[in-house]
Amino acid sequence: MSVTAENATRQVIALAEESSAHNYHPLPVAIAHAEGAWVTDVDGRRYLDCLAGYSALNFGHRHPDLIAAARAQLDRVTLTSRAFHHDQFGPFCRELADLAGKDLVLPMNTGAEAVETGIKVARKWGYQVKGVPDGQATIIVAENNFHGRTTTIISFSTDPVARDGFGPYTPGFKIVPYGDAEAIERAIGDTTVAVLLEPIQGEAGVIVPPPGYLAAVRKLCTERNVLFLADEIQSGLGRTGATFACDHEDVEPDLYLLGKALGGGVVPVSAVVGDRDVLGVLKPGEHGSTFGGNPLACAVGRAVVRLLATGEYQARARELGEHLHERLAALVGDGVVEVRGRGLWAGIDIDPALATGREICERLAARGVLAKDTHGSTIRLAPPLVVDKDELDWAVDQLVAVLREVARERA
Ligand SMILES: *Cc1c(COP(=O)(O)O)cnc(C)c1O
Repeated sequence: MSVTAENATRQVIALAEESSAHNYHPLPVAIAHAEGAWVTDVDGRRYLDCLAGYSALNFGHRHPDLIAAARAQLDRVTLTSRAFHHDQFGPFCRELADLAGKDLVLPMNTGAEAVETGIKVARKWGYQVKGVPDGQATIIVAENNFHGRTTTIISFSTDPVARDGFGPYTPGFKIVPYGDAEAIERAIGDTTVAVLLEPIQGEAGVIVPPPGYLAAVRKLCTERNVLFLADEIQSGLGRTGATFACDHEDVEPDLYLLGKALGGGVVPVSAVVGDRDVLGVLKPGEHGSTFGGNPLACAVGRAVVRLLATGEYQARARELGEHLHERLAALVGDGVVEVRGRGLWAGIDIDPALATGREICERLAARGVLAKDTHGSTIRLAPPLVVDKDELDWAVDQLVAVLREVARERA
C-alpha cells in the first residue's frame, strides 16, 4: 500500500498516539529531516524551528562541526563506563571547566540528573563543610520553577500539573517568590545549604527577574555561607546573548547546572560545574551514572565548547535578540499583552480573549513556524542561534499575520 504525501503525517501521528503514553500533547507536525534552523516534515513541508528543542538545539540541527565530532567518535569508541578512563573525558571536563571559569566538571546525561547532582552535592557540602546537623539540610527554591521531572524535583514544583498525584514528596525545600531577594534573605536559616534558581525562568514563560536580583542573591549567599546553584540548563550556552545568563549581572554561581545545548542536539549531555571546595566533597561510589561522561557525549560536548569559545553564537543571540525584541515590543497592545526575554528568547503573552497559546502555535505551524505554548496564553520563541535576520523577520511576520487572522475571526 502506498502512502500518499497527504496522509504521511496523519499515519505517523496515529501510530504514536496508539502506541505511546500520552505524557505530551505535540503539535500535529511529524518531522523527518532537519538542517540548521529548518525542519522538513514527512509530507515534505518546511518549517522554521523557533523552539530549538527547548534550547537543546542552540547551534541548529546537525551543525556540521557537531556531526563531524560525533561521526569521528562513532568510528572509535562510544561507551566505556566510568569503570575505565577514556581519552575524551579529561579534555571535555577541562575545556568545559575553563569555559565556565571553574575547577571541576561532573558530567551526567539529562538536565534533571544535573539538578539532582547539584542537590546531592549541596547537601553533602552542607554536612561536611558548613556543619549542618545530619538530615536537616534545606535548599531554597523559587515559585514557578522548572528543574525537571524526577520525584525529588517535582516535590518542590509549584505547578499542580507537574506535582499532583506523585507524592510522597521529598522534604528539605523552601519555596519563595521569584525575583525577590529579600524573601530569600528571610528564608535563609542555619540549616540552609543552597539557593537553587533559574537565572531566567524558562518554562514559567521566560520570566526575567528584576535587575540586580541575581547579584543580590550572590551577595546574600556569600555572606550567609550558602551555595548559589544556577540552573542554566535552558538559559545557558549562548541563548541570552552571553555564555551564561548569570553573566549579564557579572554573577558567578557556586555551581552551574548545564544540559540541553551541551549535547549539541546530538546526544543528551549534562554537567555540574564548580570549584574544588564544593564539587570535591564527592568521594568514589557516592554518585555516578552509567552513561555520564561517555566518549560520544564528551566528543560532542567538546565540539559544543569549541563553538561557544568563539563567542560568535553569543554575539548572534545578542544582536538578533535585540532586533527580535524590538519587533515583538511593537506588537504589545495589538493582540499581545506582554513580551519578556533576553537574547534570542522571548515569552509572548497573547491576549487571552483572542486565543490560547496553543491555538496561536497551531496557526503558526500551518504557516511554517514551529513554536510552543506554555501556561495558557504564553508562547515561547527560541530559534536556533544560527537563524538569520531575514528568517527571524519572516517568523515575526507570520505571528503578526496569525494575530490579525484571529482578531478578524473573533471580531
Ligand atoms: C529542561 C530543563 C531541565 C530538565 O532537563 P531534562 O534534560 O529535560 O531533564 C531542568 N532545568 C531547566 C531550567 C530546564 O529548562
